[in-house]
Amino acid sequence: MTETKKRNVIIIGSGPAGLTAAIYAARANMKPLVFEGNQPGGQLTITTEVENYPGFPKGITGPELMDLFREQAQRFGAETVFKNVTKVDFSNKPFKVWIGDDAYSSDSIIIATGASARMLGMESEKKLFGYGVSACATCDGFFYKEKKVLVIGGGDSALEEAIFLTKFASEVWLVHRRDEFRGSKIMRERVLSHPKIHVHWNSVVDEFLGTTESGLTGVILKDTKTGETRKDSCDGAFIAIGHRPNTSIFEGIIDLDDKKYIITKPDSTATNIPGVFACGDVQDHKYRQAVTAAGSGCAATIDAEHYLEEI
Ligand code: NAP
Repeated sequence: MTETKKRNVIIIGSGPAGLTAAIYAARANMKPLVFEGNQPGGQLTITTEVENYPGFPKGITGPELMDLFREQAQRFGAETVFKNVTKVDFSNKPFKVWIGDDAYSSDSIIIATGASARMLGMESEKKLFGYGVSACATCDGFFYKEKKVLVIGGGDSALEEAIFLTKFASEVWLVHRRDEFRGSKIMRERVLSHPKIHVHWNSVVDEFLGTTESGLTGVILKDTKTGETRKDSCDGAFIAIGHRPNTSIFEGIIDLDDKKYIITKPDSTATNIPGVFACGDVQDHKYRQAVTAAGSGCAATIDAEHYLEEI
């Protein structure tokens, strides 16, 4: 085991929250070390055009935006490494984090590990992911011009993706396991009155059909009331059944809510452990926007700075 020099602050995660925390920490001379994780740049790196990030009136691609975040953090001296934290110990100070066998210690920690799209979890979904099965309409919708696509889910994300896909697809079918949508009233109304959008109520996908050569060709749908199955053809399927926070390494270590999001104190990024802060989607299941994540990353560094001054 190797142990490196103790840090003032270690930032875990590199989406808009983590890298904004890094920009602020580096400018405050806190010499942050950022572990970028398995998906450097975070969820925006799997989107195409970002049109609502302030300051980019013509839009910018997600990967380009995140490269700029990183460049800005590095410009002020943030050290960013493409490594994934595998274990943490916050029971004693300084706190410890591990990358495999390598241990790092720090007086404060900023957690910005974000969230990941939830998947249905069957083998055929895994096999055809990227071959017609997707979790991101914004990234892949463009490939389905004049095609028939399914969107799985009944929340605001699914309804929003269905409307977005009507720009390209000839037919959009929502597959929802109940007989009413969870999404907001205005989105429900938009979806149900849209001429290109149809709904398979009380239905779930039992199987995705196709091969990596043919791509997705259809699905087996199962009626959640009767258990009956039926085949439906389609060219694309978008899974939009929500997100799960990336908190598995913190379970039993810091306080999580019933959906496993990190609990932060009101009007603060502080967790239940003094010196450990959380920002971005890992503690926000409501807004989940790049700009709100970036804002909370800034707040986390300000909170960490105050904490370090106090100790
Ligand atoms: P969500 O509200 O949790 O909805 C998830 C949907 O997926 C639900 O309809 C759920 O069905 C369904 N589902 C979950 N697991 C499933 C499974 N294994 N098989 C089939 N269906 C499954 O998630 P979300 O839509 O991502 O939204 C998350 C939050 O972000 C919400 O607060 C939402 O309002 C917000 N949001 C807002 C906007 C906006 O305002 N523009 C856009 C997107 C998201 P049940 O309904 O039966 O549980």
